Amino acid sequence: MTSPSSTLAHPYFAKALLEWYPRHRRDLPWRHTRDPYAIWLSEVILQQTRVKQGLPYYLTYISTYPTVQDLAAAPEDEVLRHWQGLGYYSRARNMHHTAQQVVAEYGGRFPETYAELLKLRGVGQYTAAAIASFAFDEKVAVLDGNVFRVLARVFGLTQDIAAPASRRVFQVLADQLIPAEAPAEFNQAIMEFGAIQCTPVNPDCLFCPLQNQCYAFQHGMVNELPVKSKAKAARTRHFHYLVLRHADTVYMRKRGPKDIWEGLYDFALTEKDVADLSAVELLHAVEALGGQLSTTRVEEPVQAMRHVLSHQKVEAKFHLVWLHAPLPAAALKASGLTAFTLLETNALPKPILIANYLDKSWK
Ligand code: SF4
Repeated sequence: MTSPSSTLAHPYFAKALLEWYPRHRRDLPWRHTRDPYAIWLSEVILQQTRVKQGLPYYLTYISTYPTVQDLAAAPEDEVLRHWQGLGYYSRARNMHHTAQQVVAEYGGRFPETYAELLKLRGVGQYTAAAIASFAFDEKVAVLDGNVFRVLARVFGLTQDIAAPASRRVFQVLADQLIPAEAPAEFNQAIMEFGAIQCTPVNPDCLFCPLQNQCYAFQHGMVNELPVKSKAKAARTRHFHYLVLRHADTVYMRKRGPKDIWEGLYDFALTEKDVADLSAVELLHAVEALGGQLSTTRVEEPVQAMRHVLSHQKVEAKFHLVWLHAPLPAAALKASGLTAFTLLETNALPKPILIANYLDKSWK
């Protein structure tokens, strides 16, 4: 197994990637710009998201908010609504705050160095390196999942890429491999190479320009590298949603901080350790919210939906409950619920689970 110190100065590596890249790269809109705002937008959207899935979101954001000032001035609900379906909503909230920070503290111009970019909220090492190199040609190497994989395989690095301490080893190596004359092109190339040639499963080793130098290929370790420890098993949460309705309205509330889906809208919620909510529990839950159940209109069956997040699994049941009368003002204040017409719910940012339920139930 090689160590980083024994892999320094491998000129073939950058050369091979820089020859490979123009022949294989995908034509993507953010590759035609040096505008740090557009580059930042694309990087935020593409974190933990495939290009195919992220592309329409990028196009929506860049056309709705062509400048950082436009994004900063937009209402948060609207920014989150455009994010719907992409997951990891804290990214959208951070993105909005960062835009406001760039406007308030930097006069609407992105900082131009890696060190300054790191001071922006929600901008970590990867994003700062991407903007600094793509927009300003700074020689700082990006490290994302694709880069970890390529380096681990080509140089035979066995450090666990899920362990924070390993990052430094890979960063030192990547910073030594990046050529001063083409940092942007090199960063783009290595990420693209990982995305379409040296893929997690079935990499195209047969037609790979690095085949002769690749440690993993030469030692039959392509499937073992990179080493990545398993994430903890996701915990299961049982959400019992009380979908309270009266006349043509439905009651929803904006979720608070310290849990998943902050800032998104869902229904009144009772969370339990088990999958069932008895009729009595349902009645008590409605009464606790200040509502009066209509005995003639509790609809069955409840719908069950599953939503898998990175670290938890949500099993949701929707209990559609018709109320005798609208919830009184005091109950709305205490519960945070608001009555919306079904049309109004369209414009609210919602977890995809809630959006799917509404679509299935009432469209
Ligand atoms: S030979 Fe295979 S494992 Fe090695 S860099 Fe090329 S595609 Fe990746």
